Amino acid sequence: MTMTPIYLYNTLARNKEQFQPLNPPRVGIYSCGPTVYKDIHIGNFRTFVMTDWLRRMLEYNGYDVYLVRNITDVGHLQNDMEESGEDKLEHAARTTGRSAYEIAAYYTEQYMRDSAELSILPPHLSPKATDHIPEMLAMTERLIERGLAYAVNGNVYYDVNRFADYGVLSGNTVEHLRAGGHGRQQMEIAEDKDAPEDFALWKRGDESRQMSWQSPWGLGFPGWHIECSAMATKYLGEQFDIHTGGIDLVFPHHEDEIAQSQGANGHPPVRFWVHGEFLILGNRKMKADAQANEDDSIKMSRSKGNVILVSTLKEEGIDPMAYRYLLLTAHYRSKLNFTDESITAAQHALNNLRADLAALPTTSSQAAWSAEAQQVQQAFHKAINDDLDLPTALVITRETARNNKIAPQERRHLLLDFDRVLGLRLNTVEAKAPRVLSDEVHALVRQRDEARAARNWKLSDQLRDQLQALGFEVRDTSRGTEVL
Ligand SMILES: [Zn+2]
Repeated sequence: MTMTPIYLYNTLARNKEQFQPLNPPRVGIYSCGPTVYKDIHIGNFRTFVMTDWLRRMLEYNGYDVYLVRNITDVGHLQNDMEESGEDKLEHAARTTGRSAYEIAAYYTEQYMRDSAELSILPPHLSPKATDHIPEMLAMTERLIERGLAYAVNGNVYYDVNRFADYGVLSGNTVEHLRAGGHGRQQMEIAEDKDAPEDFALWKRGDESRQMSWQSPWGLGFPGWHIECSAMATKYLGEQFDIHTGGIDLVFPHHEDEIAQSQGANGHPPVRFWVHGEFLILGNRKMKADAQANEDDSIKMSRSKGNVILVSTLKEEGIDPMAYRYLLLTAHYRSKLNFTDESITAAQHALNNLRADLAALPTTSSQAAWSAEAQQVQQAFHKAINDDLDLPTALVITRETARNNKIAPQERRHLLLDFDRVLGLRLNTVEAKAPRVLSDEVHALVRQRDEARAARNWKLSDQLRDQLQALGFEVRDTSRGTEVL
C-alpha cells in the first residue's frame, strides 16, 4: 500500500483529515444512488463521477475498495409532493400507463448505460430499495424498541428529540430547525407527528399505490431515508469508511441516516462523509429555463425542468468523455459552470491530449522510470491524494504529454498510468504508425541540428520550413530535432 498520505475533506469534521481505513486494505464506500422515476441528468452524474474518482484514487493507492451504490426504486414522498399524497414514481406510472416497476426498470437501465458512457466503473453492488423492505422494517422496529421512534395512524416517525447527536453533520439541531433554520419542508404538514422536526420511517399506504407492503403497522411504504441506513448496514457493516453524495443530501437525508443507523446500532456509522458540489447551468439555451434565475445560472435540479442528459450531449456531437474532462477542471467541492463555451473548450482540450498521446510511440514494456518521470508521477500522486485535487492532476497530465525532458515512450506510459485514475479512456487512443523516414528527411534533420549547434537560426528555420512542407511536425527537444 501507499506511503503517500491521503487527505479527504470530511463534512462531519468540517475539515480535511488524513484518511485511514478501518480495516485495511479494505475500504467500504456507500454512495447514494439515483432515484429511477425519470432520466438521470448530467448534474446527478457529477456526484457519481466524483465517487468514481475517489474509488480509483484509493485503488491507485493499493486499497481494495468495495463500493455500494443503491438504486432508489421506491418513489419517496418529496417535500413538494407531500401534500398531494402521490410520490413521483406513482405519479409517473399513473400518467404514462406503465407500472411503477416498469418505469423503475427502464430508468435503471438508462442510468447504467449512461454511467458506462461516462466511464464510471460499475459499483460492486447496486442494491435496490424494493429488495430490502424486510431490512427496513427490522431497523424501524429496532428504533421503536429503543424508544427513538413511535407509531401513529399506520405511520412511524423518528423522534428527533430523543437523539442527542441530531445536527452533528449539518448543524441543523432541533433548536436551529425550530428557529426557522434549514427547516424540514414537511414540518407542520403531518398532523400526527409529536414534533414538527420528526421524520417518517414508514408511511401509511392504501390500495391505490402499486408499491405498498405489509408491515406491523399495516399496509405502507418506507420513508425516504431508511433504505440507505438499512442497505449500508447490511452490506458494509455498522461502521464503514466513506459515505458519498451530493451536497444537497447533507440535510435532511444524511443527517437522518446518522440518526437511524446510530440510533439502531449504537455508534456513528460513517468515518468520512464526502459531498460533491452542484453543476451550474450557465448560458445553455438547450432546455434551460434561463429566466428562472436572476443571475442567469441555474442549479441542475429536477424541479426546474432544465435537464441535460448524456444522450443530449451526444446529440450535440459532444463526446461523453469531454464532459468527464470538464468535470476534472474543477475541484469536486467547487461549483462548476456548464456552458457552451466550457464544454466546447473541454472537447478541444481532450482532442489535443489524445493527439499528443497518439504521437507517442508504444513500446512493449517499461523498464525503470527515469528520475524525471518519477518526479512527475510523485507530483500526480500527491495531487490526487490531496482531497482529490484533480484540476492539478490534469495540468500535470497535460504537461507530461509535451514534456520533452521525458522520452516519448515513457511519456505514454505515464499518461496511461495517470488515466487509471482520470478514467478518460486514453488506452483506446491508438498510436500513429511510426513514419519511415526517408534518407532525405534524415539528412534535413541532421543539417538542422548542425545549423542549430552553429546558432545559424536562419538556416535552421529554413530547414524546419522544408520539413513542414514535407508534412512533418517539427519539435525542438533536448535531444535535438524531432519530427512527427
Ligand atoms: Zn442515500
